[in-house]
Amino acid sequence: MDTYIYEYGDKLYINLTNVCSNACVFCLRNTSDGVGGESLWLSREPTAEEVIALLDKKDLDKYREFVFCGFGEPLYAFDRLVEVGAYLKGRGKKVRLNTNGQGEFIVGAGAALRLVGAVDTVSISLNASDAEKYQEVCCCAFGKAGYDAMLRFAKECKDAGLRVILSVVDTIGTDEIERCKAIANGIGVTLRIRNYEK
Ligand code: SF4
Repeated sequence: MDTYIYEYGDKLYINLTNVCSNACVFCLRNTSDGVGGESLWLSREPTAEEVIALLDKKDLDKYREFVFCGFGEPLYAFDRLVEVGAYLKGRGKKVRLNTNGQGEFIVGAGAALRLVGAVDTVSISLNASDAEKYQEVCCCAFGKAGYDAMLRFAKECKDAGLRVILSVVDTIGTDEIERCKAIANGIGVTLRIRNYEK
């Protein structure tokens, strides 16, 4: 049976799609079928109504945050993401989108503005301080242009009033982390340094 929502810690994660424009060398999908013993590979993507029906069966007050994440890029399920996010926001919940940030290519212009009212926070995997290094680790289907598109999307989300976090893993080295900090500062957003777990 497909896993569309799953608990991890005090958060509830929403898994809408397995499609992704990246093929990151560190992606969990390369080494695992899912999280916490649940397979996140989908035989069929859910409708927004199906996800909302599953959420309705849960005690939503139990969770500190609801996160669109899963085994794929949630922007590929954009309309459903917006519908489910708006439902959760309507219930007074905190909602985060974890994304590769390639909204410009995947959704088109205006994606950031459409996220307003559906999510509070957009967490974008920055991964590297320039397009070349990014392409080496993320193997983006849009080529090196994916990197600049990601930074523009981060800025658009920030300008739309969303909380934006850029993230890197701690294995990239202190110099590279400093360069990534400067990029985040330049956009006026936070850099989160994630612990890399194999
Ligand atoms: S962007 Fe996320 S889902 Fe896509 S390949 Fe990279 S780590 Fe995996």
